[in-house]
Amino acid sequence: MRSEDGRGTLYVVATPIGNLADISSRALSVLADVDCIAAEDTRHSKRLLNHYGIRSTMLALHDHNEREMAAGLLARLNSGQSIALISDAGTPLICDPGFHLVREARAGGIRVIPVPGPSALISALSVSGLPTDRFVFEGFLPVRTQARRDRLALLAGEPRTLVFYESSHRIVSCLEDLVSCFGTDRQAVLARELTKVFETILEGMLADLVRQVTADPNQQKGEFVLVVHGASPAGADDISAETERILRILLGDLPVKQAARLAAKITGSARNRLYALALEMGRE
Ligand code: SAM
Repeated sequence: MRSEDGRGTLYVVATPIGNLADISSRALSVLADVDCIAAEDTRHSKRLLNHYGIRSTMLALHDHNEREMAAGLLARLNSGQSIALISDAGTPLICDPGFHLVREARAGGIRVIPVPGPSALISALSVSGLPTDRFVFEGFLPVRTQARRDRLALLAGEPRTLVFYESSHRIVSCLEDLVSCFGTDRQAVLARELTKVFETILEGMLADLVRQVTADPNQQKGEFVLVVHGASPAGADDISAETERILRILLGDLPVKQAARLAAKITGSARNRLYALALEMGRE
């Protein structure tokens, strides 16, 4: 674990986001072998480490002490000790502490090695069925209503898929604000309690999600990732030939409203846009 220059290595280790079995065997051996583990919450991480019989020394490194702790951890690394950085869940630094330590370690020429694994962001995106070739991770939206709406207003024209983290306290108001800033007809997926007992993945237009979540208090509990379809390019006619073809087929068997809804679900195009087109097709 020592580099050739005799200094230690900083490992950035991903841990499960719910299901303890999601830890990699490499992560387990690194956690068992390092001189110490810098954990966001040592009591929380003890559960994981006890589960796997890992007895490495732990130190707390969280948002409130990261700068003070970093100096001591760098001294340990420089003296040849190796350290694993973990957070409460998922990948450290992804809306979690560690940025300052990693930056300082790299600036000081310490080897920083990733031990990849779970992250709620990638887990949600991978099952969303929304475009994944390009996406924007927005982390948590601002807590205050006006600041949140301002942020969403800036994002309303973003063409790439958008990913947000949200807590149970604000999931309803976040969805409502999304509807008011992005419109009712944006396809979205709400991934709740991923890898846990009450895992739920809801999908639909933003307005449908507001209805589903407000109607069922259980859907307001736990941890959430919200994946939202990007905006259609400004001014562009967002209805592709393929979307038109799908809509035409559906119109052969379904009433206009239903055909537009289903075509929007299949293609991700705006429902009201498809509804208008379906009406035009009906008149042809
Ligand atoms: N570092 C973590 C990661 O890699 O995903 C994220 C930490 S951030 C402090 C916690 C937020 O991540 C939660 O509020 C929620 O938005 C999301 N999250 C974490 N675990 C989740 C899960 N099991 N299901 C859904 N969202 C989750």
